[in-house]
Amino acid sequence: MKKIIIAIDGFSSTGKSTIAKQLANKLNYIYVDTGAMYRAVTYFALEHNFIGDSFFYSEKLIEHLNQITITFKFNTVKGFAEVYLNGKNIEAEIRTLRVSQYVSPVATLSAVRRKLVEQQQLMGKDKGIVMDGRDIGTVVFPHAELKIYMIASAETRAKRRYKELVERGDHLSYEDVLENVTTRDRIDSTREDSPLVKADDAIEIDNSFLTIEAQLETILNLVSQHI
Ligand code: C5P
Repeated sequence: MKKIIIAIDGFSSTGKSTIAKQLANKLNYIYVDTGAMYRAVTYFALEHNFIGDSFFYSEKLIEHLNQITITFKFNTVKGFAEVYLNGKNIEAEIRTLRVSQYVSPVATLSAVRRKLVEQQQLMGKDKGIVMDGRDIGTVVFPHAELKIYMIASAETRAKRRYKELVERGDHLSYEDVLENVTTRDRIDSTREDSPLVKADDAIEIDNSFLTIEAQLETILNLVSQHI
C-alpha cells in the first residue's frame, strides 16, 4: 500500500498528539511529536542556565546547539516513541509547565528551527509518517499528501492540559495553564520564522466537541483517499 506523509498542525493542546499517535498505530506509521524536540532544546537551555526568569542568552544556546542530540525510542508499554536528549530519557521532564513557559521563545530562534527541521525532514524521507507541530504542513513537508489543521477554543485546550498535568501530580492553577496556552498561541502565531498558519491545502478540524473516535474516523476517511 502507498505510504504517505500526514502533517498535523495547530495551537497548543488541540489534541494533535493524541490523534497523531492513534493514527500512526492504526496505519503502522512512525509518529513524530516535533513539539517534544523544541521542548528538549528548551530543557537543555534551562539545565545550562541559558534561559530563566528574566534572561535569555540565546547566542549561548545557539553556540551549544551542536552539543544537542535528540532521538526517539519506541516504548512498547506506552505505545509511543519517547524523546531522549543526548541519550537520556527526558519524556517526563519536558512536559512540565516550566518547560512550557520557555519553549515558545526558544522556538523563535531560526538556528534552532533549522537544526530541528532538517532532522524532521530526514525522518520523513521514506514517508509512512505522522508528524505534528506548528509548521509541518507549511515548512517541514509543504508537499505532504494530507494536511490537517486542528482547532479548539483556548478554554477547551487549557482544561485538557490542566487535567493532564493534575493527573500527573503537578500542583498548579487552571489560570496559569490558560495563561500559558494563550501566551504560546500569541508567540507561535506571530513569530517571524515559520509562524503557525493554516496551509492553504490543509483541512480544518474543530475538535472542541468531537470525541477522539470521531476525529480518528474523519481522518482515516481522508487518508483512504490518498492510499
Ligand atoms: O506541541 P507542543 O505544545 O508540545 O509544542 C511546544 C512548543 O514548541 C510550541 O508552543 C511551539 O512554540 C514550539 N513548536 C514549534 N514548531 C513545531 C512544534 C512545536 O515552534 N513544529
